Amino acid sequence: MNDFSYTRPSHPTEAISALLSQSDALYLGGGTNLIDHLKLGVVSPSQLVDVRYLGLDKISSDSRAVTIGAGATNSAVAYHHEIQNHFPVLSEAILAGASPQLRNVATTAGNLLQKTRCTYFRDIHSACNKRVPGSGCSAIAGFNRSHAILGVSSACIATHPSDMAVALTALGAVIHVQDSSGVRKIPIESFYVPYGEDPAKENILKRGDLIIAVEVPQTPWFVHSRYVKARDRSSYEFALASAAVAVDLDGGKIRNSRIALGGVATKPWRAHAAEAALVGQTATIAAFRAAAEAELASATAQKDNGYKIELSKRVIVKALQEAADVRGA
Ligand code: SF4
Repeated sequence: MNDFSYTRPSHPTEAISALLSQSDALYLGGGTNLIDHLKLGVVSPSQLVDVRYLGLDKISSDSRAVTIGAGATNSAVAYHHEIQNHFPVLSEAILAGASPQLRNVATTAGNLLQKTRCTYFRDIHSACNKRVPGSGCSAIAGFNRSHAILGVSSACIATHPSDMAVALTALGAVIHVQDSSGVRKIPIESFYVPYGEDPAKENILKRGDLIIAVEVPQTPWFVHSRYVKARDRSSYEFALASAAVAVDLDGGKIRNSRIALGGVATKPWRAHAAEAALVGQTATIAAFRAAAEAELASATAQKDNGYKIELSKRVIVKALQEAADVRGA
């Protein structure tokens, strides 16, 4: 590990100034991802700016939205009574990730910004366009069982690892970002960018930008929301495929829905095609399956991950069944 300096500001503007004072400084939240990368040599900043003491760990609500401070721990969010009652999908998604120990220190902003688990990204001896732009992608011809089938580019096929961000995408969350001139609000769907030719660029943040909060709109039918995650073992494991869904039912008919996928795409993946296919349909397993087929029609399999196409469809159907309370095999 390389030497680095450490600073602990007490106000967001101080943190932003400290970050901008050195060209390779990084923000440090809970550290559950960044410390790994320091040890592995994936990053070697000259300064860490600790953002855990900025007073950004509160969760508040009014009739319009629940606002989650960027520093609120994953556990605090998952067990917050209003989140459990109004947006169960968010609580379920968080509790499906990591371990209790990690959730107790990992933060909301850190969860949104966590890096891919692509093995080649974490191995500094492998070519990786995301870690070293222009160096190539070891995964495309390598072992790519866990990689993406949606949103891939010729430069990178890595999945976004977050469960929380998938639920927040289904819920239409808005990210509050502060820079030296003020605060701007970014819908989460505009926050993550397609990889294109530069997979090192994962979101629209510019240097110095500090996430200060995430706002989840209060929408009555989000109470009918669920998270289903398929993985290699039942805990402490990343998704092979996951679905966060919310459904608005009018009797037995689907008036509206929100669906996002995890573990299968290069960013938290809003399933617009599936949502469109469900509008006005009777809530049946056949309708859910047709919606899943519509969404996965654009999927691109690599040599080892073709199973994810069928797995994703089944995860979507199961999540919709649970959210709409539709029984069946
Ligand atoms: Fe790097 Fe992306 Fe290729 Fe993985 S899939 S080796 S992260 S460029």
